[in-house]
Amino acid sequence: MATGTALRCRECGREYPVAPIYTCEWCFGPLEATYDYDAIRASISRESVAAGPASIWRYGPLLPVAAPAGSALAAGWTPLIRAERLGAELGLRDLWLKDDTRNPTNSFKDRVVAVALGKALDFGFKTAACASTGNLANAVAAAAARTGLASFVFVPSDLEAGKILTTAVYGGNVVAIDGNYDDVNRLCAELAAEYPWAFVNVNVRPFYAEGSKTLAYETAEQLDWQVPDHVVVPIASGSLLTKIHKGFDELHKVGLLDDAPSVRVSGAQATGCSPVATAFTAGVDDVHPVRPDTIAKSLAIGNPADGYYALDVIRKSGGACGAVTDPEIVDGIRLLARTEGVFGETAAGVTIATLAKLAADGVVRPDERVVAYITGHGLKTLDAIEPHVSVTTTIPPSLDAFRAAFPTLTEES
Ligand SMILES: [Zn+2]
Repeated sequence: MATGTALRCRECGREYPVAPIYTCEWCFGPLEATYDYDAIRASISRESVAAGPASIWRYGPLLPVAAPAGSALAAGWTPLIRAERLGAELGLRDLWLKDDTRNPTNSFKDRVVAVALGKALDFGFKTAACASTGNLANAVAAAAARTGLASFVFVPSDLEAGKILTTAVYGGNVVAIDGNYDDVNRLCAELAAEYPWAFVNVNVRPFYAEGSKTLAYETAEQLDWQVPDHVVVPIASGSLLTKIHKGFDELHKVGLLDDAPSVRVSGAQATGCSPVATAFTAGVDDVHPVRPDTIAKSLAIGNPADGYYALDVIRKSGGACGAVTDPEIVDGIRLLARTEGVFGETAAGVTIATLAKLAADGVVRPDERVVAYITGHGLKTLDAIEPHVSVTTTIPPSLDAFRAAFPTLTEES
C-alpha cells in the first residue's frame, strides 16, 4: 500500500489533498508528498524490502503511489560498484559509484518517471508530458510507450542529436523549442494549465521528485544498511540532491537504519551553468539565475527550481558545491572510463571532475566512505567526447604492419 497521504507546502506548511497540483495557493511555495512514517515503520522491515522486486518498487511504502501491476514501470536496483582504481587515482580509500546508467533508458530519470507515470495512471491521465534536457525525454517517451499513454516531450532545439533520436524512436511527439531549458520549462507551465496532461515535472512534480529518494535507499541497502559518509551528486534542478538527502533520513525514520544518518552531501555543476556553486562559494542564500553555456546539457538549468533547497542541504550537511569547466568534464568522463570501465554522460564527467577537485582540496577526505552518483550513460552524449577519442591507429591487414605500428611491443607485453 502506498502511504503518500497528502501534499504539504515546503514554505508555509499548508496541506492539500493528493491531486495533480504542485504550487501552494497561499504562498506559491512548492508542494511535497507527505507520509505517515509511524504506519510505514510498523509495516516495513529489512526483510520485507529484501523480499520485494529488484526495482524501486521494493521501497513501495516510501513512495507516493502503489507499485503498478507487472513490470511496465520497472526502474532502479542498479549496481553500487566499489571503485578501487578511481579511488587510488583520487587518493580516496573507500570510493563507490552508483551506476544509474543501467536503467531502462540509461539514466536515473527512469526512477522519477516510473513514480510519475504510476501516479498519472492513478489520476486517469491519458497523456504524459515533460520539459526536458534530454534524459527525462528518453524516460517519459519510453515509459509512455510501455504503458500505452500518449506523450508530448518538449526539449531545447540545440539538444544533442543522440538524445532527440533516443526519444523520437518511441513514437511519441517530440517538440523542439527555439530557446533554452528555462524557456521550455516556462512554456510547459503554461501548457499544463491548458491541456489535461500529466506533465511529470510540472503538475505531477511533487510525486515525480520522490522517485529520486530510491537512490539513497538502494545505496544504504547495498552497503548492508549503512550510509556513506559523503555523497557527490550532480545538480540540475537541485531536486535529486535534496531527495537523496531526504531518502537517507527517511530510512532512519521508518526504522531501517539503526542510527540517525549523518551524510555530507556535496553538489557538482559545470562552470557554464553553476548558479548553486556560485552561491555556495559566495556564501549567500540567493541562487541567481544564469544563462547556461556548457557541454553538460543535461545539467543546463540556469534557474534551478530546487537550487535554494539544494544549497541548504549542502551547507547543513557539511558538504560543498564545486564547478568544473568543459575540458575538465571531458577529462572526468575519460578518467571514469579508463579506471572503472564505466562510460558516463557529461553529467557524470561533471560529477567525477568535481569529486576529483573536492578530493584534491581535502573537502572529500581519504578516510570517508564516498558514493558518487553516475546518473546517465555516455552513449547519450557522444558529441561531447567524439573530438577527443579515436582509434589508436589504422593499418593494413598484415602482421608486418602491426609490428611496424607497435615496434616496442614484445611477445611478453
Ligand atoms: Zn505555502
